[in-house]
Amino acid sequence: MTQVVPWRRELRGVGRHGPVVVIGAGPYGLSVTAHLRASGVDVRIFGDIMGSWRHAMATGMFLKSTPQATDLSAPVPGGTLADFCRAVGGSVLTELTPIPCATFVRYGMWFTEHYVGEVENTRVRTVERSRTGYRVCLEGGEEIGAAAVVVATGLGALAHIPPRLLPLAPRGPGPDAALSHTSQHTDLSRYARQHVAVVGGGQSALESAALLHEAGADVRVLVRSPRIRWGDTPVPHRPLLQRVIKPSSPLGTGWALATVCHAPHAVRRLPAPSRLLLHRRALGPSGGWWLRERVEGVLPVHCSRHIVHAHLRGEQAHLTLAGAGEGPPKLCVDHLLAATGYRLDLEALEFLSPVLRHRLDRVPGSRAPRLTAAFESSFPALYFTGSLAAPTFGPMLRFVAGTAFAARRITAHLTGRAPHHGRSGVAVRRQ
Ligand SMILES: Cc1cc2nc3c(=O)[nH]c(=O)nc-3n(C[C@H](O)[C@H](O)[C@H](O)COP(=O)(O)OP(=O)(O)OC[C@H]3O[C@@H](n4cnc5c(N)ncnc54)[C@H](O)[C@@H]3O)c2cc1C
Repeated sequence: MTQVVPWRRELRGVGRHGPVVVIGAGPYGLSVTAHLRASGVDVRIFGDIMGSWRHAMATGMFLKSTPQATDLSAPVPGGTLADFCRAVGGSVLTELTPIPCATFVRYGMWFTEHYVGEVENTRVRTVERSRTGYRVCLEGGEEIGAAAVVVATGLGALAHIPPRLLPLAPRGPGPDAALSHTSQHTDLSRYARQHVAVVGGGQSALESAALLHEAGADVRVLVRSPRIRWGDTPVPHRPLLQRVIKPSSPLGTGWALATVCHAPHAVRRLPAPSRLLLHRRALGPSGGWWLRERVEGVLPVHCSRHIVHAHLRGEQAHLTLAGAGEGPPKLCVDHLLAATGYRLDLEALEFLSPVLRHRLDRVPGSRAPRLTAAFESSFPALYFTGSLAAPTFGPMLRFVAGTAFAARRITAHLTGRAPHHGRSGVAVRRQ
């Protein structure tokens, strides 16, 4: 049961105990702030607006999600991606239109201007508990007393590279080393005319490989699983029977996905092992339907192959491979690009004080925070949203499609009001 904290009741109309601090200005931070400010809550939001989409994704990338699943959440109608396209005179997006990341970034900027207001482009250095809430220290040295903190920092700090690859980058992975993570790139054309191997079988790996190939690199992909999974080409206006057999949802078609998208609050009631299984298994690595023709038959993809040993010789990466699939047993490349995903681990959030990091309750069997139905952690008035909430509420929280559910619940909890009933929302009980 969530503890009732006195300062929560005083939030509206500016608290004696300070503003609500939102850390992160991506889709989740922006949506939560838009809802809180529309409810009259004093909010300070910190971060680089759509920073991950501008600095942690390579130029030329597209979103994998469809336009219908890519709306930030505004507290009033008019803030969808389609509304943005209409407002700026852009072309109408259909299920068959891959969205360039650059368009999504422009949408985020427009959304901020119309629904969020001021965003402070400063990093939060530390968050620690204080007598009345939280003490938040900014990179420039300013200290803020916050009544509540919403962590919406995305995946940035959570990038994962398997330890066995790390000998390739004794001074740390990065674009200039022989090893990097996909999140460290904005321009893959720097590897033109070089030999590059990409590890991974998901969208990031396959799209990065396509971009590398198109930029003139000699690229190959190493995939642990026996085959690449490709998304199905969407079929607009499906007949009724098909829609009943395989209902649509923001994350794809089928009853399982439709259920987790329409009832993330129910996912939270499942036993933790079932939620974690759902988190690991639902929507495993796959390539977007529109990417297939840029990869299949165009560049070498070695399935059932994994790296068992990696070392540097001079400036080159020497890789020993194993697995049942076809391909050379050894590879020597100029660069190894790890599209090896992200690990949800509270320990990686260095801005949280050691006390918070170590004492926050975890979802059993994971390193992600245990959250209430209102996204509150085991520390009162400290909220987590986005991917870190996925082990609690299911896979929708890994995607932009989860912003409405999160923003409404957090706002309802902080203001003590019932949330608007959204597509996937149910009222949070007042404290
Ligand atoms: C390659 C890739 C492709 C993806 N494609 C899709 C897709 O097609 N559709 C989809 O729905 N989802 C996609 N996702 C998932 C995507 O990350 C999320 O849907 C979405 O960006 C999550 O938003 P967020 O607000 O949680 O985090 P982010 O968008 O990552 O934003 C994080 C924010 O936190 C800020 N920040 C971080 N640390 C600090 C700090 N210490 N102080 C201040 N600010 C800080 C950053 O500046 C940034 O503003 C993709 C992810 C990746 C990695």
